Amino acid sequence: MWQDIFAAIENQHSNMIESRRYLHQHPEISFEETETAGFIADTYEKLGIPYTAKVGGNGVIATLKGGQPGKTVALRADFDALPIQEENDHAFVSKHDGAMHACGHDGHTAALLGLAKALLPFQDQLPGTVVFIHQHAEEYAPGGAKPIVDSGALKDVDAVFGTHLWVNAPLGTIQTARGPFMAGADRFDITIKGKGGHGAQPHQTKDAIVIGSQLVASLQQVVSRRVNPLSTAVLSIGMFEAGHAFNIIADSAKLTGTVRTFDHQVQDLIIQEMEKIVKGTCASYEADYEFNYHKGYPPVVNHEQEAALVLDHIAKAAPELQVEEIEPVMAGEDFAYYLLDKPGAFFFTGAQIPDHYYPHHHPKFDFDERALVHAAKTLLQAFRSYQDNYAD
Ligand code: MN
Repeated sequence: MWQDIFAAIENQHSNMIESRRYLHQHPEISFEETETAGFIADTYEKLGIPYTAKVGGNGVIATLKGGQPGKTVALRADFDALPIQEENDHAFVSKHDGAMHACGHDGHTAALLGLAKALLPFQDQLPGTVVFIHQHAEEYAPGGAKPIVDSGALKDVDAVFGTHLWVNAPLGTIQTARGPFMAGADRFDITIKGKGGHGAQPHQTKDAIVIGSQLVASLQQVVSRRVNPLSTAVLSIGMFEAGHAFNIIADSAKLTGTVRTFDHQVQDLIIQEMEKIVKGTCASYEADYEFNYHKGYPPVVNHEQEAALVLDHIAKAAPELQVEEIEPVMAGEDFAYYLLDKPGAFFFTGAQIPDHYYPHHHPKFDFDERALVHAAKTLLQAFRSYQDNYAD
């Protein structure tokens, strides 16, 4: 049966290309993707696959219950576009001014819809249940994944898999990692509220520049003296603003920076240690402060067993695919939230066009449409491996 489904996926290729190009011509930016959600819902409506719209916002979730017992596995594709003016000149350029599918989410959607179409005729023989998660707003924090998880839509799901078409990898390559895969990227702002005064009478002031300087130095010790040396983290201060005249002691100072981590516990530790240092340092000068830490998406941390299912069984899906275990990348993804809730793995599907290579989010971004079949096959293989591995 599985080989028949893989063949059915190949037969969906022209259909996937058609959907992808339609979506590419009609991009909608994060949180405004109502027409796109309508297109997706319509597709499931026509197929007769039950779905729920407006999940956690514009999300659409369809469920295909197989005729055989098995696990419930969710497959996720995002569908938002970016506020970018397209500069490609192919036949299916964006018809919406200032909006473009410049990250490949049109392809994710087309691949998942194509997979649903390929699977439908095999429903009676299929073990378990496929949950198709079509997610809005990946590109713009707080994103669409978290409200979808918070809505309880995944409560009966045993595992979740997702892919990103990736033009940094050659066509035919599937890339993933067994643990940390994509970084969490956070931002912080610290405002020191001292007391200004005459440069000649420092004893009557609370010098915000002196306090800020102490903080810049002390905060370096969070990574070097608080984080386990075997963990990875970066804490960088990119802005230090204070003062306006040579003979006036500054009454306030502002520090802004970023923290990058691959581990939720390290992230929590860093926040806690930063707050302690800011609080303690300001207290010793009797100054007040404001400490704002803005969490971006958490790191994408693949679950080992599920990542292994992707890495070890790809040949069963398609002999033409190569799988590579790679080092984590510093980009972020809100797929992280699914992995905090359920076991699963995220992987890249190589989609580079070597003589038209522009990175993700570039106005000339484009990907090789043959990767649509690779993405759908690998998602199905992940579903299949999970069923085989966890059969009751
Ligand atoms: Mn993306």
